[in-house]
Amino acid sequence: MPEGDTVFRAARRIDAALAGRVLSRTDFRVPAIATTDLTGWTLRGTRTHGKHLLTDLVPPGSDDTGPAWLDPVPSDALTLHTHLKMEGTWLTQRTGSGWKRPEFTARVVLESEDRQAVGFSLGIVALLDQHGVAELRAPLGPDLLHPDFDADEAMRRLRSEGSLPFVQVAQNQRLMAGLGNMYTCELAFLTGVNPYTPLNAVANLARVVTRARLLLEQNVTRAVQSTTGVLSAGRNTWVYRQKACRRCGTRVRVAKIGYVGQERTTYWCPRCQPAA
Ligand SMILES: [Zn+2]
Repeated sequence: MPEGDTVFRAARRIDAALAGRVLSRTDFRVPAIATTDLTGWTLRGTRTHGKHLLTDLVPPGSDDTGPAWLDPVPSDALTLHTHLKMEGTWLTQRTGSGWKRPEFTARVVLESEDRQAVGFSLGIVALLDQHGVAELRAPLGPDLLHPDFDADEAMRRLRSEGSLPFVQVAQNQRLMAGLGNMYTCELAFLTGVNPYTPLNAVANLARVVTRARLLLEQNVTRAVQSTTGVLSAGRNTWVYRQKACRRCGTRVRVAKIGYVGQERTTYWCPRCQPAA
């Protein structure tokens, strides 16, 4: 499932193919912007905030065509907002080559003379002006993968929901952006936190937040998500979707935790993560 590191990698793929390039074709396959044509615009770069991808496009004649992901973005830029949700991905390739995913799942095509980025099965596709981008980002918590990540602000926000279980608070994107369910379960394991422990009762929250950053950063450059350091399937997590704890062999417990309708399936080891 896409988490902050997957999204970050997708952004780097888009930029490796198209940053600083003039687009020779655009195709938005969603009703709201299906007739929009940004041919001649330059792809300035792709920012991420948690699980949101923000691809900045500047109009012909603009002298500010980069560098990528430096704020401020020029006011006349449009930003393509995409979100991978459960199934989405961005793939890049030489313009004109066959696609690796079914054509009917393509939602966005951005193309230069020689390179192409295609967004498949995207959960959100929208074009925003910079006011819209600010509105989108305002409610999001500090981004774990941002170079200027503000740990104090993240902890302040997390503590505002401090009576709720750790695994519910840690993946609330309005409090701290970047962790999905897999990393949250694994973070709880790696820091010895029982998933039901109220956030405010977690010992040394600063250390936990630092570990969360490290987990995402380590995976930015990996082809396979792993919290154990092992990349082979079935051995890349300690407890998430495991039957037995990969450290001590104890049977892994599974429960749905969260508000009704928003529960996430949580995995933990009762021996390595005892209730406080
Ligand atoms: Zn264990």
